[in-house]
Amino acid sequence: MVRRIGIAMFYHESHSFVPYKTDIPQFENYGYCEGEKLVNEFRNTKTELGGFIDVLERYHDIEIVPLLCAAAIPSGIVTASAYSRIEHQMLTLLQQEKALDGLLLALHGAMVVEELQDPEEQYMIKIRSIVGNIPIVITLDMHANIKESYLDLANAIIGYKTYPHIDMYETGETAANALIELLSGQQFKVKMKKLSLMPPSINMRTSEGPMHKLMEESKVLESKEGIFNITILGGFPYADVAQVGAGIIVTGTDEEIINKALENLTNLYMEVKEEFLVTLPTTKEAISQALQLLGGKPVVLADISDNPLSCGSADTTELMREVLTLNIKDCLIGGIYDVESIEKCKEAGIGSKVQLQLGGKINPQYGHPIEVTADVIAISDGVFYNSGPFQKNYRMDLKNAVHIKCEDVEVLLIGTPMSANDPEMFRHIGIEPSVKKLLVLKAKNHFRAAFEPIVGDIIYVDALGAASNYLRNFPYQNVPASIWPLNKEDY
Ligand SMILES: [Zn+2]
Repeated sequence: MVRRIGIAMFYHESHSFVPYKTDIPQFENYGYCEGEKLVNEFRNTKTELGGFIDVLERYHDIEIVPLLCAAAIPSGIVTASAYSRIEHQMLTLLQQEKALDGLLLALHGAMVVEELQDPEEQYMIKIRSIVGNIPIVITLDMHANIKESYLDLANAIIGYKTYPHIDMYETGETAANALIELLSGQQFKVKMKKLSLMPPSINMRTSEGPMHKLMEESKVLESKEGIFNITILGGFPYADVAQVGAGIIVTGTDEEIINKALENLTNLYMEVKEEFLVTLPTTKEAISQALQLLGGKPVVLADISDNPLSCGSADTTELMREVLTLNIKDCLIGGIYDVESIEKCKEAGIGSKVQLQLGGKINPQYGHPIEVTADVIAISDGVFYNSGPFQKNYRMDLKNAVHIKCEDVEVLLIGTPMSANDPEMFRHIGIEPSVKKLLVLKAKNHFRAAFEPIVGDIIYVDALGAASNYLRNFPYQNVPASIWPLNKEDY
């Protein structure tokens, strides 16, 4: 008998404090497709859907039923109309498909919608009401804001184990394997401990520091009989919602062992939490540190507060202004989201000199545009494929890109906000980042996966921006008043 398994993705990380919203065009810019197109787009990619597809295709008695993928780059909260359209589209597809035997759903877990604090819960409830009592397995980003009531809606919950997130594919595989077990009669208990912690993500990498310690401990516990998967959540602190923050989810078969693992990891999380708080150099301090380190492999100044994958606009100007003023040689800045400047450069053509008002258009409170005279070096359509471990082989579309030079400093302009997470973003237009002395990147942690082999020192900069490391800068209204670190007197 053929078993029909639905696969779908709904993915957004929403920032409550930026003035821009996420609407249908932002989903269309990144990933919005249904049916067979979904399989064609994600097959052979190192993503959750790539993992789902590969595992399910190993079974001759399984038919993949591709439903809907709606994914947008992290940004402002999702409009009510965009959410309703996507939800309606997904529910309609499920109604048309009728008898599914199981469902694999890739969620981010940190979406906020206008007037809807927990859209993913609503989405799951409505899906469950249509598909009935079939096994559902969901995957989550490490930066998901999840509350205990989710546990009633899924039969297993599997999150990333790495940050940078280079195990999206493996997470998809684990989820698909969980579904296969459920289909053959296995029953999992899914338990969660929600913590009143809202750690900033700057020091949350899994190769070092507090999240590394948590992951190592979770791997030891996960190897025990009775535990299928342990998911450690850091949460997403820029979403001003009641369910914000850290948590631990354990999926397994032995309740006693699950409870012990939860207790163990809760204690460790509380022990290491202060290590998530780090102080970063100001723009001027960071540049002066970088100048002293120049000479070997490229030094990176990471403009973490404007990282697009943390909802930055990719056009703040505080750090770029200082670097342009100093006219640092062999320096590359990118990518700067600036449609107006791209249009001017395209009109003028390659080889022309243009006057530009660079950046500073989306969030002027984080720095005004910079007046520059630039040489237009190269123009592209902005399409490239990731070559590094982060979302390998996934097609990226910058919606046009222009390589300009402002005196000695090179800048990559891009037509949609995108973190500089893969060197192909620069190489596709003819820029080789590994030969520069200084890289000024709109990026935070994910870029390390592909850039660490080609760069030297990495300095995180405390410039102005929507993804500031300092959570006290944001006017929270909905997060619990007692949540750490906002409850710290000295924070
Ligand atoms: Zn994440």
